[in-house]
Amino acid sequence: MNTKLLYKFPKTLMNKGSGFLSGYSHTLNPYTGCAFSCSYCYVRQMPVSTFRKQEWGTWVDIKKSAAEVLRKELIREKKKGKVTIFMSSSTDPYQPVEHKEEITRSLLEVMVEIQPDFLFVQTRSPLVRRDIDLLLQLKEKVRVSMTIETDSETIRKWFTPSAPPINARLKTLQILADAGVPTQATIAPILPSSEAFPEKLIGLVDRVCIDDFFMGDGSGGRRTQKLGVSNIYEKIDLNEWYSPDAYKIVYNRFKKMFPEEKIHLSQQGFLPFH
Ligand code: SF4
Repeated sequence: MNTKLLYKFPKTLMNKGSGFLSGYSHTLNPYTGCAFSCSYCYVRQMPVSTFRKQEWGTWVDIKKSAAEVLRKELIREKKKGKVTIFMSSSTDPYQPVEHKEEITRSLLEVMVEIQPDFLFVQTRSPLVRRDIDLLLQLKEKVRVSMTIETDSETIRKWFTPSAPPINARLKTLQILADAGVPTQATIAPILPSSEAFPEKLIGLVDRVCIDDFFMGDGSGGRRTQKLGVSNIYEKIDLNEWYSPDAYKIVYNRFKKMFPEEKIHLSQQGFLPFH
């Protein structure tokens, strides 16, 4: 799918952490829009998407002046108190165009210089490995959380055909972990997966976060319902995985391989400093 790209020069970048992310002082989005176009993405229903005439997933705005804006904002916000940043809340900071544009990299460079108290990097892209040199300079103040909703490439293609392959994400976690970057696997939203899934993450992550459409979409699952995600479960004849209890299948499998204190549920798995 061709992504329509636009350059923007925003005057502000950091937003106040709120709702599900109220544990953070700020959220940070290097891009607006997202080329990964996940079927279940509830940003599709947020004003950022609905005010736009184009379909979610077909456009990305590149925040060209982001580094200079962030520098000023960080200096100002650090004077007010603790700065904890969630990057990103309504896009993936490692969009395919980040290869060329390096907006997220430029933000990390600023954050290495003017360090926040904590930075949570949420992505599903192997491109994050390019920035290991910067992530390492943030030491324990950073955590890279890789979304891995399932270990099945077939299932991944049903729900997120434009997102990076699962094996590339696992490999990236291995590279990050080997380099010494704090890592997390975010199995969110849980999609149908195999019994072998937990084993594939052993040694790659310090912790695991499990979330689903019912706990994590901010509306008890109603937002997801509106997106029609249940149709995909019907097509693949896996309706039993679309239920408020389905997360327990994954949780119980992980409990056999990971200490319970390393498995976090929903919002708790996204909090800073853990
Ligand atoms: S990667 Fe995140 S922001 Fe992008 S479409 Fe998927 S869920 Fe939405």
